[in-house]
Amino acid sequence: MKAVVTGGAGFIGSHLCDYLVARGHQVTALDDLSTGSEANLTQVAQDPAFELVKGSILDQNLVNEVIEGSDTVFHLAAAVGVHTIVDNPLRSLHTNLHGTENVVEAAVAHGARFMVASTSEVYGKNDTDGLTEDADRILGSALKSRWSYAAAKGLDELVAHIYGEQSGLPCVITRFFNIVGPRQTGRYGMVVPRFVAQALNDEPITVYGEGTQRRCFGSVFDVIPAVVQLMDTPEAYNKAVNLGGHEEVSIKGLADRVLELTGSSSAISYVSYEDAYGKGYEDMQRRMPDTTLANRLIGYTPQRNLNDIIT
Ligand code: NAD
Repeated sequence: MKAVVTGGAGFIGSHLCDYLVARGHQVTALDDLSTGSEANLTQVAQDPAFELVKGSILDQNLVNEVIEGSDTVFHLAAAVGVHTIVDNPLRSLHTNLHGTENVVEAAVAHGARFMVASTSEVYGKNDTDGLTEDADRILGSALKSRWSYAAAKGLDELVAHIYGEQSGLPCVITRFFNIVGPRQTGRYGMVVPRFVAQALNDEPITVYGEGTQRRCFGSVFDVIPAVVQLMDTPEAYNKAVNLGGHEEVSIKGLADRVLELTGSSSAISYVSYEDAYGKGYEDMQRRMPDTTLANRLIGYTPQRNLNDIIT
């Protein structure tokens, strides 16, 4: 495979680069290093099969140059992090819409297969037991305060579908549900690394809201092989596929688990959403993937539980 990974210096993207290079593939990462970092790529940086191109997916000529000659494009670059999105809602729309358009068009022009990273946030406030891929989604029910991220990702999905249908682009949409692992930082609002850092530094663990909101954390090491397998599965083309973990936990339960596993004596302190993110912030009460489709397509069954993910 000659692959391009946009957002390749980010958390998920860098693990994907490691995985592909380790399996003998040629990989080019395209990243503007806005939330990613070169330090994430130390495992592959010196490998002749790997190249990092520093630049933006908004640069159409650069995107075209990088994708020319590749056969597979994994599109993970996006404006992420709750603060980034709440502080600058239009940035995620701009990056995703124009950036994704550049990446998809180059993939079509050069005959490459295409995968786009979407998110559980496209399901909006829908908190039914196990979200299936065809649950009501986006725009109407998108979270108010993160509407631009949900909408941008929903539009990315639509763009992929349109090109998939009209240009025959072999494409897969992966909907990630709270993926966690090494290299993820707490800087952009990700809860697991933030709690672990607070516990290890003997600082109070700050739970936003009442801590009753429930999440299901998935390991990056379960998800990366699944992403690559889906790309090799024509039955998955032009489909949106949920990927995530299976163990559901409340955010207060997560804080307790982090305290137990780190042996920390940090206190738990509760911060209102308004103090954490500003007025009008809303969060989903529950976010739990139904991964039946991924299981049917590629036999996906997460192997790592929450303790594995935290430690
Ligand atoms: P991340 O911030 O670590 O990765 C995003 C990468 O994109 C970063 O390296 C960043 O520098 C890069 N980037 C941003 N704007 C860019 C631009 N204009 N041009 C080039 N590069 C740019 O975040 P992540 O958690 O690894 O997320 C990867 C993808 O997965 C994103 O599309 C995100 O929306 C999606 N996702 C992640 C999760 C999760 O749980 N981590 C959940 C749902 C969806």
